[in-house]
Amino acid sequence: MARPDRRINLAVARAIPPFLLCVFIYASYAVTKPLCIDYLIHPLSKYDHGRRTGAGVAILVIYYILLLIVLTTYLRLLHTVTWNAGLLPRKATPPADDAHEPPHSSGRHRRRRRRHRRHRSAEKTNTLDRDVESEADSTVDGDTTIPWDTNGLESFYTKDVFVCQPDGRPLYCSTCCHYKPDRTHHCREVDQCVRKMDHFCPWVGGVVSETSFKFFIQFVFYTMLYCIFCLIVCALFTAEIERETGGANPHLAVGIGLSGLFGLFTFGMTLSSLQLAMLNLTTIENINRRSAVWTLAIRVPNHLLSRLNPDSRWAPTFNTITYPLPPMPLTPEAQRNYQPPAGEQHIFAILQTLPGENPFDLGSPFRNLQQVLGYKVIDWFVPLKQSPCAVRTDSDSFFEFGPVVSRLKREAGLEKPALEEARQ
Ligand SMILES: [Zn+2]
Repeated sequence: MARPDRRINLAVARAIPPFLLCVFIYASYAVTKPLCIDYLIHPLSKYDHGRRTGAGVAILVIYYILLLIVLTTYLRLLHTVTWNAGLLPRKATPPADDAHEPPHSSGRHRRRRRRHRRHRSAEKTNTLDRDVESEADSTVDGDTTIPWDTNGLESFYTKDVFVCQPDGRPLYCSTCCHYKPDRTHHCREVDQCVRKMDHFCPWVGGVVSETSFKFFIQFVFYTMLYCIFCLIVCALFTAEIERETGGANPHLAVGIGLSGLFGLFTFGMTLSSLQLAMLNLTTIENINRRSAVWTLAIRVPNHLLSRLNPDSRWAPTFNTITYPLPPMPLTPEAQRNYQPPAGEQHIFAILQTLPGENPFDLGSPFRNLQQVLGYKVIDWFVPLKQSPCAVRTDSDSFFEFGPVVSRLKREAGLEKPALEEARQ
């Protein structure tokens, strides 16, 4: 059964779009009739001044242009959130764990682990925060309570770098029963995993993610401009009417309140969204960005494979994982002797970032911003093209990695030092 806050979120999400529509209709009425027509273009008899048609028409034109832009970005955002939210399909059934128990597991252990697994599954369904912590920290228990599921791993081990658990397997969603591509989170409101999920947004009634974050930024930015314009116009003419008649127009007074409130809110949202985009973080990743430690599986290049021999003087200090995985967990001894089919080995080093490092930070705020808003200035302002980060052209990783990963590779000896490369 859904927790009350989830139900409230969903109910609010359904109520807000019609509420916003009512606010726009009312604001349009207040600016058009009481202000532009009754006060400026055809002043009512109670106002002691002549016609100011030019001012009235100019305000109407600017107002409706801004309104059109706001509605266009809102509809683009709603459309993306509804039809292309970046949801990952759920797997129908969990893997048959019992068949994959390690041979040394006793019946009692199996029962205890099943109970633990059920508990984890319920926990993940009901609390996004739990999911958030376990992922951003990458301190997901690499314990055996996560089912030994070998399905769908090809899309990970054919890449060069991916986010993993401490045991080298990708992060796993025990509710959807599948491995999660980098930066994917389980959203409890829609009860599905979402690629690069940012947050569940009641203003658009859905999940803001990699496909819609750009349109979300554009929507809050243009709404902020619209609110600032309404606030300035309503405040100026309310002061003027007060000087002329000694009273105030109630519609303009409500306009000041609404545009001030929404203006402040959208100003805050615009600033925080742009800041996140410049850091290349999502709202979820930002929760513990100062302490987050990411565990990454980084491919060991072929020319270094011979150095992985524990007897070699180059023996690495990091753990490794070899894909494809065996169909079931092996005892430590069997694991050492396990040889995947010839020619199909993909060996990855398991490395960790320092606390607070973001491997997706491309090294400059501008480059990070381009990943969300686009490479051309026109893309930054027009809500048409998808974010570059949502268009998968790079087969080496799910998302582009930055200098942190280059440093990890260098320190682990997986990359040629710059000096050596320059000499060649
Ligand atoms: Zn999930």
